[in-house]
Amino acid sequence: ASKERGRGRATYYNEHYSEALSARLTMASEVRSALDEARFEVHYQPITDVQNGKVGGFEALLRLPKPDGGFVPPSEFIAIAESSHLIADLGSFVLHSACQEAQSWIDEGQPARSVSVNVSAAQVWHGDLEQVVDSALEKSKLDPSLLCIELTESVFAAESIDRLNGILTRLNERGIQLALDDFGTGYSSLGYLNQLPFDTLKIDRTFVSGANQCVEKRKLLRGIVSLGKGMDLKVTAEGVETEDELKLVRQLGCHCVQGWYFSKAQPANQAAVEAARIEALGMLRQLNPQERQ
Ligand code: C2E
Ligand code: MG
Ligand code: MG
Ligand code: MG
Repeated sequence: ASKERGRGRATYYNEHYSEALSARLTMASEVRSALDEARFEVHYQPITDVQNGKVGGFEALLRLPKPDGGFVPPSEFIAIAESSHLIADLGSFVLHSACQEAQSWIDEGQPARSVSVNVSAAQVWHGDLEQVVDSALEKSKLDPSLLCIELTESVFAAESIDRLNGILTRLNERGIQLALDDFGTGYSSLGYLNQLPFDTLKIDRTFVSGANQCVEKRKLLRGIVSLGKGMDLKVTAEGVETEDELKLVRQLGCHCVQGWYFSKAQPANQAAVEAARIEALGMLRQLNPQERQ
Protein backbone atom coordinates (compact mmCIF):
# COMPACT_ATOMS: atom_id res chain seq x y z
CA ALA A 1 0.00 0.00 0.00
CA SER A 2 2.79 2.36 0.88
CA LYS A 3 4.52 1.53 -2.38
CA GLU A 4 1.35 2.33 -4.30
CA ARG A 5 0.96 5.57 -2.44
CA GLY A 6 4.56 6.42 -3.27
CA ARG A 7 3.93 5.77 -6.95
CA GLY A 8 0.75 7.80 -6.82
CA ARG A 9 2.67 10.65 -5.34
CA ALA A 10 5.33 10.45 -8.04
CA THR A 11 2.61 10.64 -10.70
CA TYR A 12 1.07 13.57 -8.86
CA TYR A 13 4.37 15.42 -8.83
CA ASN A 14 5.10 14.57 -12.46
CA GLU A 15 1.72 15.83 -13.55
CA HIS A 16 2.15 19.03 -11.63
CA TYR A 17 5.70 19.42 -12.86
CA SER A 18 4.62 19.07 -16.47
CA GLU A 19 1.68 21.40 -15.90
CA ALA A 20 4.05 24.02 -14.51
CA LEU A 21 6.45 23.40 -17.38
CA SER A 22 3.79 23.75 -20.02
CA ALA A 23 2.48 26.90 -18.34
CA ARG A 24 5.98 28.33 -18.60
CA LEU A 25 6.30 27.33 -22.24
CA THR A 26 2.89 28.84 -22.98
CA MET A 27 3.91 32.09 -21.29
CA ALA A 28 7.24 32.15 -23.13
CA SER A 29 5.51 31.82 -26.50
CA GLU A 30 2.93 34.41 -25.42
CA VAL A 31 5.79 36.83 -24.63
CA ARG A 32 7.34 36.08 -28.02
CA SER A 33 4.13 36.72 -29.94
CA ALA A 34 3.22 39.77 -27.83
CA LEU A 35 6.63 41.21 -28.76
CA ASP A 36 6.18 40.38 -32.44
CA GLU A 37 2.66 41.81 -32.45
CA ALA A 38 3.68 44.90 -30.45
CA ARG A 39 1.13 44.16 -27.73
CA PHE A 40 3.32 45.08 -24.76
CA GLU A 41 2.67 48.48 -23.20
CA VAL A 42 4.86 50.56 -20.96
CA HIS A 43 3.07 52.33 -18.13
CA TYR A 44 4.54 55.10 -16.02
CA GLN A 45 4.36 55.57 -12.26
CA PRO A 46 5.14 59.05 -10.91
CA ILE A 47 8.07 59.53 -8.53
CA THR A 48 7.46 62.57 -6.34
CA ASP A 49 10.01 64.76 -4.60
CA VAL A 50 8.76 65.09 -1.02
CA GLN A 51 10.43 68.43 -0.44
CA ASN A 52 8.69 70.37 -3.19
CA GLY A 53 5.84 68.06 -4.23
CA LYS A 54 7.06 67.98 -7.83
CA VAL A 55 7.01 64.87 -9.94
CA GLY A 56 10.66 64.55 -10.88
CA GLY A 57 10.26 61.41 -12.91
CA PHE A 58 8.42 58.22 -13.73
CA GLU A 59 9.23 54.54 -13.44
CA ALA A 60 8.56 52.61 -16.63
CA LEU A 61 6.67 49.38 -15.87
CA LEU A 62 5.85 46.72 -18.44
CA ARG A 63 2.24 45.71 -18.98
CA LEU A 64 0.93 42.83 -21.08
CA PRO A 65 -2.75 43.42 -21.88
CA LYS A 66 -5.07 40.43 -21.62
CA PRO A 67 -7.69 39.87 -24.33
CA ASP A 68 -10.49 40.17 -21.75
CA GLY A 69 -9.17 43.45 -20.30
CA GLY A 70 -6.72 43.84 -17.47
CA PHE A 71 -3.03 43.01 -17.59
CA VAL A 72 -0.76 40.08 -16.98
CA PRO A 73 1.51 41.33 -14.17
CA PRO A 74 5.31 41.45 -14.77
CA SER A 75 5.79 38.89 -11.99
CA GLU A 76 4.20 36.36 -14.35
CA PHE A 77 6.41 37.00 -17.36
CA ILE A 78 9.69 38.71 -16.42
CA ALA A 79 11.33 35.62 -14.87
CA ILE A 80 10.16 33.51 -17.82
CA ALA A 81 11.48 36.06 -20.28
CA GLU A 82 14.79 36.00 -18.40
CA SER A 83 15.17 32.25 -18.59
CA SER A 84 14.08 31.99 -22.23
CA HIS A 85 16.38 34.69 -23.63
CA LEU A 86 13.43 36.91 -24.50
CA ILE A 87 14.49 39.47 -21.92
CA ALA A 88 17.00 41.05 -24.32
CA ASP A 89 14.26 41.96 -26.82
CA LEU A 90 11.80 42.88 -24.09
CA GLY A 91 14.41 45.01 -22.32
CA SER A 92 15.33 46.75 -25.56
CA PHE A 93 11.66 47.47 -26.23
CA VAL A 94 11.21 49.06 -22.78
CA LEU A 95 14.38 51.16 -23.04
CA HIS A 96 13.48 52.47 -26.49
CA SER A 97 9.84 53.16 -25.56
CA ALA A 98 10.69 54.88 -22.28
CA CYS A 99 13.35 57.17 -23.77
CA GLN A 100 11.11 58.03 -26.71
CA GLU A 101 8.17 58.77 -24.42
CA ALA A 102 10.21 60.88 -21.98
CA GLN A 103 11.52 62.99 -24.86
CA SER A 104 8.06 63.35 -26.39
CA TRP A 105 6.74 64.79 -23.10
CA ILE A 106 9.53 67.37 -23.22
CA ASP A 107 8.69 68.12 -26.86
CA GLU A 108 5.08 68.69 -25.77
CA GLY A 109 6.31 71.34 -23.33
CA GLN A 110 6.17 69.32 -20.12
CA PRO A 111 8.86 69.98 -17.51
CA ALA A 112 11.94 67.77 -17.95
CA ARG A 113 11.28 64.60 -15.98
CA SER A 114 13.43 61.51 -15.74
CA VAL A 115 12.40 58.01 -16.71
CA SER A 116 13.55 55.00 -14.70
CA VAL A 117 13.86 51.68 -16.50
CA ASN A 118 14.20 48.30 -14.80
CA VAL A 119 17.04 46.22 -16.17
CA SER A 120 17.44 42.52 -15.37
CA ALA A 121 20.71 40.99 -14.28
CA ALA A 122 20.56 38.86 -17.45
CA GLN A 123 20.58 42.00 -19.59
CA VAL A 124 23.63 43.26 -17.76
CA TRP A 125 25.60 40.03 -17.97
CA HIS A 126 24.60 38.45 -21.25
CA GLY A 127 23.12 41.20 -23.30
CA ASP A 128 24.38 44.27 -25.01
CA LEU A 129 23.01 46.70 -22.46
CA GLU A 130 25.42 49.50 -23.27
CA GLN A 131 24.68 49.38 -27.00
CA VAL A 132 20.93 49.22 -26.38
CA VAL A 133 21.10 52.19 -24.01
CA ASP A 134 23.18 54.16 -26.52
CA SER A 135 20.80 53.39 -29.34
CA ALA A 136 17.74 54.31 -27.24
CA LEU A 137 19.32 57.63 -26.25
CA GLU A 138 20.50 58.37 -29.76
CA LYS A 139 17.15 57.63 -31.41
CA SER A 140 15.10 59.52 -28.83
CA LYS A 141 17.57 62.41 -28.40
CA LEU A 142 16.83 62.19 -24.66
CA ASP A 143 19.38 63.83 -22.38
CA PRO A 144 21.22 60.89 -20.72
CA SER A 145 20.81 62.51 -17.30
CA LEU A 146 17.05 61.97 -17.67
CA LEU A 147 17.49 58.21 -17.91
CA CYS A 148 17.80 56.15 -14.74
CA ILE A 149 18.66 52.46 -14.87
CA GLU A 150 17.23 50.41 -11.99
CA LEU A 151 19.06 47.26 -11.00
CA THR A 152 18.18 44.83 -8.23
CA GLU A 153 20.64 43.18 -5.92
CA SER A 154 20.36 39.98 -7.99
CA VAL A 155 22.89 41.59 -10.31
CA PHE A 156 25.52 41.00 -7.60
CA ALA A 157 24.91 37.26 -7.51
CA ALA A 158 26.94 36.35 -10.58
CA GLU A 159 30.26 36.99 -12.22
CA SER A 160 32.75 39.62 -11.26
CA ILE A 161 32.16 42.82 -9.42
CA ASP A 162 34.92 44.39 -11.50
CA ARG A 163 33.09 43.74 -14.74
CA LEU A 164 29.88 45.08 -13.22
CA ASN A 165 31.73 48.12 -11.97
CA GLY A 166 33.07 48.68 -15.49
CA ILE A 167 29.62 48.54 -17.08
CA LEU A 168 28.00 50.76 -14.45
CA THR A 169 30.86 53.25 -14.48
CA ARG A 170 30.65 53.63 -18.27
CA LEU A 171 26.88 54.19 -18.04
CA ASN A 172 27.39 56.69 -15.25
CA GLU A 173 30.06 58.52 -17.24
CA ARG A 174 27.52 59.06 -20.01
CA GLY A 175 25.46 60.90 -17.40
CA ILE A 176 22.93 58.11 -16.86
CA GLN A 177 21.58 57.73 -13.32
CA LEU A 178 21.82 54.39 -11.53
CA ALA A 179 19.41 53.15 -8.87
CA LEU A 180 19.61 50.10 -6.67
CA ASP A 181 16.05 48.76 -6.60
CA ASP A 182 14.23 46.74 -3.93
CA PHE A 183 17.06 47.44 -1.54
CA GLY A 184 17.26 45.06 1.36
CA THR A 185 15.25 42.22 -0.15
CA GLY A 186 17.94 40.44 -2.09
CA TYR A 187 21.55 39.47 -2.21
CA SER A 188 22.82 42.35 -0.11
CA SER A 189 26.36 43.16 0.41
CA LEU A 190 26.90 46.60 1.77
CA GLY A 191 30.42 46.48 0.37
CA TYR A 192 29.03 46.45 -3.17
CA LEU A 193 26.96 49.51 -2.47
CA ASN A 194 30.13 51.29 -1.55
CA GLN A 195 32.11 50.15 -4.60
CA LEU A 196 29.54 50.75 -7.32
CA PRO A 197 28.50 54.14 -8.70
CA PHE A 198 24.84 54.13 -7.64
CA ASP A 199 23.06 57.47 -7.32
CA THR A 200 19.80 56.30 -5.78
CA LEU A 201 18.65 53.72 -3.28
CA LYS A 202 15.08 52.50 -3.66
CA ILE A 203 13.76 51.10 -0.43
CA ASP A 204 11.43 48.19 -1.01
CA ARG A 205 7.78 48.40 -0.04
CA THR A 206 8.20 45.59 2.51
CA PHE A 207 10.15 48.01 4.74
CA VAL A 208 7.60 50.79 4.36
CA SER A 209 4.33 48.96 4.84
CA GLY A 210 3.46 48.41 8.47
CA ALA A 211 6.29 50.66 9.70
CA ASN A 212 3.79 52.99 11.33
CA GLN A 213 2.32 50.15 13.36
CA CYS A 214 5.53 48.46 14.43
CA VAL A 215 8.40 50.12 16.25
CA GLU A 216 10.90 47.45 15.17
CA LYS A 217 9.97 47.91 11.52
CA ARG A 218 10.27 51.64 11.96
CA LYS A 219 13.77 51.29 13.41
CA LEU A 220 14.81 49.17 10.46
CA LEU A 221 13.37 51.64 7.99
CA ARG A 222 15.08 54.53 9.76
CA GLY A 223 18.37 52.63 9.65
CA ILE A 224 18.09 51.93 5.93
CA VAL A 225 17.24 55.55 5.13
CA SER A 226 20.15 56.87 7.15
CA LEU A 227 22.48 54.32 5.57
CA GLY A 228 21.54 55.60 2.12
CA LYS A 229 21.73 59.24 3.11
CA GLY A 230 25.02 58.67 4.89
CA MET A 231 26.41 57.35 1.60
CA ASP A 232 25.16 60.46 -0.21
CA LEU A 233 22.59 58.48 -2.15
CA LYS A 234 19.22 59.83 -3.10
CA VAL A 235 16.69 57.75 -1.17
CA THR A 236 13.34 56.81 -2.67
CA ALA A 237 10.64 55.01 -0.70
CA GLU A 238 8.68 52.53 -2.80
CA GLY A 239 5.11 51.41 -2.24
CA VAL A 240 3.83 54.35 -0.20
CA GLU A 241 0.10 53.66 0.03
CA THR A 242 -1.17 55.90 2.82
CA GLU A 243 -0.82 59.44 4.08
CA ASP A 244 0.69 58.09 7.31
CA GLU A 245 3.36 56.24 5.34
CA LEU A 246 4.07 59.41 3.39
CA LYS A 247 4.44 61.39 6.62
CA LEU A 248 6.75 58.77 8.08
CA VAL A 249 9.11 58.47 5.12
CA ARG A 250 9.21 62.24 4.75
CA GLN A 251 10.01 62.61 8.45
CA LEU A 252 12.76 59.98 8.15
CA GLY A 253 14.31 62.06 5.39
CA CYS A 254 13.52 60.14 2.19
CA HIS A 255 14.00 62.38 -0.82
CA CYS A 256 11.39 60.83 -3.09
CA VAL A 257 8.33 58.66 -2.84
CA GLN A 258 6.60 56.37 -5.24
CA GLY A 259 3.39 54.55 -4.50
CA TRP A 260 -0.32 54.15 -4.90
CA TYR A 261 -0.96 56.98 -2.43
CA PHE A 262 0.07 59.29 -5.25
CA SER A 263 -0.63 57.18 -8.29
CA LYS A 264 -0.49 53.75 -9.86
CA ALA A 265 1.39 53.32 -13.11
CA GLN A 266 -0.49 55.03 -15.95
CA PRO A 267 -0.57 54.57 -19.71
CA ALA A 268 1.88 56.91 -21.46
CA ASN A 269 -0.81 59.37 -22.58
CA GLN A 270 -2.07 59.78 -18.98
CA ALA A 271 1.30 60.27 -17.30
CA ALA A 272 1.60 64.04 -17.70
CA VAL A 273 -1.99 64.60 -16.55
CA GLU A 274 -1.30 62.44 -13.51
CA ALA A 275 1.88 64.39 -12.71
CA ALA A 276 -0.04 67.68 -12.94
CA ARG A 277 -2.72 66.31 -10.61
CA ILE A 278 -0.10 65.26 -8.03
CA GLU A 279 1.67 68.61 -8.21
CA ALA A 280 -1.60 70.47 -7.71
CA LEU A 281 -2.32 68.23 -4.74
CA GLY A 282 1.10 69.03 -3.26
CA MET A 283 0.41 72.74 -3.49
CA LEU A 284 -2.87 72.28 -1.71
CA ARG A 285 -1.18 70.35 1.01
CA GLN A 286 1.42 73.09 1.55
CA LEU A 287 -1.41 75.59 1.85
CA ASN A 288 -3.15 73.45 4.43
CA PRO A 289 -2.36 75.06 7.82
CA GLN A 290 -2.60 71.73 9.66
CA GLU A 291 0.22 70.37 7.53
CA ARG A 292 2.54 73.27 8.20
CA GLN A 293 2.83 72.54 11.91
P1 C2E B 1 9.82 47.27 -9.14
O1 C2E B 1 10.83 47.70 -10.12
O2 C2E B 1 10.19 47.31 -7.71
O3 C2E B 1 8.54 48.18 -9.43
C1 C2E B 1 7.67 48.61 -8.44
C2 C2E B 1 6.49 47.69 -8.33
O4 C2E B 1 5.72 48.06 -7.21
C3 C2E B 1 5.55 47.78 -9.54
O5 C2E B 1 4.94 46.50 -9.70
C4 C2E B 1 4.52 48.79 -9.05
O6 C2E B 1 3.30 48.69 -9.74
C5 C2E B 1 4.39 48.35 -7.61
N1 C2E B 1 3.90 49.40 -6.75
C6 C2E B 1 4.16 50.73 -6.82
N2 C2E B 1 3.55 51.40 -5.82
C7 C2E B 1 2.90 50.47 -5.09
C8 C2E B 1 2.10 50.54 -3.90
O7 C2E B 1 1.85 51.61 -3.32
N3 C2E B 1 1.60 49.37 -3.43
C9 C2E B 1 1.85 48.18 -4.04
N4 C2E B 1 1.32 47.08 -3.51
N5 C2E B 1 2.61 48.07 -5.16
C10 C2E B 1 3.13 49.21 -5.67
P2 C2E B 1 4.80 45.83 -11.13
O8 C2E B 1 4.52 46.84 -12.17
O9 C2E B 1 3.86 44.67 -10.94
O10 C2E B 1 6.25 45.28 -11.38
C11 C2E B 1 6.79 44.30 -10.55
C12 C2E B 1 8.25 44.12 -10.83
O11 C2E B 1 8.44 43.60 -12.15
C13 C2E B 1 9.05 45.41 -10.80
O12 C2E B 1 9.34 45.76 -9.47
C14 C2E B 1 10.26 45.02 -11.59
O13 C2E B 1 11.16 44.29 -10.80
C15 C2E B 1 9.66 44.07 -12.63
N6 C2E B 1 9.48 44.81 -13.88
C16 C2E B 1 8.47 45.62 -14.29
N7 C2E B 1 8.70 46.14 -15.50
C17 C2E B 1 9.92 45.66 -15.88
C18 C2E B 1 10.76 45.83 -17.04
O14 C2E B 1 10.46 46.57 -17.98
N8 C2E B 1 11.94 45.14 -17.07
C19 C2E B 1 12.34 44.32 -16.02
N9 C2E B 1 13.51 43.70 -16.13
N10 C2E B 1 11.60 44.17 -14.93
C20 C2E B 1 10.41 44.82 -14.85
MG1 MG C 1 12.02 49.26 -10.27
MG1 MG D 1 11.44 48.22 -6.57
MG1 MG E 1 9.74 46.32 -5.31
